[in-house]
Amino acid sequence: MNILTATAELTPIAQAGGLGDVAAFLPREFEKLGHNSIIVLPKYRSIDINKWGFKNTHKTIIVQMGYWNEYALLWEGTLPNSNVKVYLVEHNGYFDRAGIYGDPIEFGDNDRRFIFFSKAIFEVCKALGFKPDIIHAHDFHTAFTMAFLKEFYRSDPMFSNTAGVYTIHNLAYQGKFNPDTALLYSGIPLSKFQPYSPYEYYGMVNAMKVGIMMADKITTVSPTYAQEIRWSYFGEGLDGVINSRAADFIGILNGIDYDEWNPATDKYISYNYNFGEFQIKSQNKYKLLRDYGLDEGDNLDLPLISMVTRLTDQKGVDLVMARLEELLSHQNFRFFLLGSGNYNYENFFRYLSQRFPKNALNYIGYNAALSHQVIAASDFFLMPSRFEPCGLTQMYSLRYGTIPIARQTGGIADSVFEYDYNYQSGNGFTFWQYNADDMAYAISRALSIYNNQPHWNKIRENAMSHNLAASTTASKYLEVYNWAKEKI
Ligand code: ADP
Repeated sequence: MNILTATAELTPIAQAGGLGDVAAFLPREFEKLGHNSIIVLPKYRSIDINKWGFKNTHKTIIVQMGYWNEYALLWEGTLPNSNVKVYLVEHNGYFDRAGIYGDPIEFGDNDRRFIFFSKAIFEVCKALGFKPDIIHAHDFHTAFTMAFLKEFYRSDPMFSNTAGVYTIHNLAYQGKFNPDTALLYSGIPLSKFQPYSPYEYYGMVNAMKVGIMMADKITTVSPTYAQEIRWSYFGEGLDGVINSRAADFIGILNGIDYDEWNPATDKYISYNYNFGEFQIKSQNKYKLLRDYGLDEGDNLDLPLISMVTRLTDQKGVDLVMARLEELLSHQNFRFFLLGSGNYNYENFFRYLSQRFPKNALNYIGYNAALSHQVIAASDFFLMPSRFEPCGLTQMYSLRYGTIPIARQTGGIADSVFEYDYNYQSGNGFTFWQYNADDMAYAISRALSIYNNQPHWNKIRENAMSHNLAASTTASKYLEVYNWAKEKI
């Protein structure tokens, strides 16, 4: 199959979050399975052209925006660890600036930038002579490709057999645009801006809605999140829209990159370990604690619970704030936070470290190497998320034999299962309600397995043997592609 991935992020070339990981591992797996897969990405200023080996193709493309044309250049490179071709669309007016989306305040012209990019996708295909079977768009940035395919391009022989697949990574970011400009840039006639149409959403244009309504098939990043967002609590105002497409909608759990996250070969950790080598795993804990000034007199064997996270409301930090101080004063464990974000949350963890200098450690900031070290070093990984479309860190933890203590929402509910002492099944400790007491109880249950050697080993073996391979995810996407092709 000829598969085109249209994305605003791509790990490691232009990294911002989980979307970039998926946009990279799927094409890599498709290639292994013999498919012809390419990726198209904007040429952001932050992309290191030399480091990643991009070359100017000297091909120009013409993109019709409303009633005028705009011109872009095409660069070609290769996705690391693969032969997958990556094409960068150069339009310096839109993309030669600091940042990808604008942070903390989104760029005011994100409608124009991403509508331009979404239309450029089709012109890239023409310039390359690439006739896609599938155009796979991700999140609101490339959602308009789904509309352009149906409105403008399917009549072109180049795209007459092309199906559109759209993936929701996080419904919280929708791309709500001013209709006057969004319709003008996209070339969608104003007459189509009607209530209940794909283009109207409470007087605005909502790119996420456009993607959901216009795709042949829609996916999201876990089966549980696919169910949750059909209800108003999780639906972010789009639950009705999602329900209207329920017959074409499915959740597929993300996989993880087994090369990047492998305790046996991880280049960031000091003591590599294989399945069941828990003695070696603990060396990583001792190392981390020594790095933080502790020594043998400090009982380095205490259980270590960690979090590696953006410090935002989504991640359940308020539950942690409600109970962690009390837990640390009554129970024997250590806590390590690696994270940054909300200042109040950051300062809470600074305060905690001041109150428990040897038992509450933190690194406030973003540090990729340390994220590997902390996950390898820890016994437990705390993840009390309010919502979690998929979540990667609980899966990294499982792979490293680090036991999640996690709230059953979204992708966590599809990957972490309560340990059962009778059947010796399960790989974590879980709670359902968004409630600090339930979280505290899950922490207590987790701590009580720590000195119960046979079960402590068993739960970690269960965790490390849980299948999280990207290849499993990729084969499910291929099924969706075939399903999408049936429709056209
Ligand atoms: P989300 O995408 O909602 O932030 P995920 O669990 O899907 O949550 O992915 C988070 C990714 O970001 C993981 O790879 C995690 O290791 C990484 N990460 C988050 N915070 C930090 C940090 N402070 N330092 C290093 N890596 C971090």
